[in-house]
Amino acid sequence: MHELALCQGLIELLVEQGRVHGFTEVRSVTLAIGALGHVDPEALAFCFDVVSEGTLAEGAVLTIERPDGTAHCVGCGSDVTLASRLDPCPRCGSSQLMVTGGQDMQLREMEVR
Ligand SMILES: [Zn+2]
Repeated sequence: MHELALCQGLIELLVEQGRVHGFTEVRSVTLAIGALGHVDPEALAFCFDVVSEGTLAEGAVLTIERPDGTAHCVGCGSDVTLASRLDPCPRCGSSQLMVTGGQDMQLREMEVR
């Protein structure tokens, strides 16, 4: 389950940031998980609760945004926006799409004290 590894990385980042910026508590975290990535937001939220226990992020409110992905259509040459990896090109219906964005997980915001 790679969500667990992602969460561990995220918590390590928060702990590191806490050391650098001198905060001791993370109250909320906003993540953007691209709609075309392979990260399951529910699994991630579950892992976050488990991994954050005993750290400065324990009890933090996790908000997950799901930005649409972007892709280039080989069929018609358009750059399009996709809400799902399984969607065909909204312009021509082709399924020959090269994903160009929306596969990553990013830390958007956090509230600390
Ligand atoms: Zn197309």
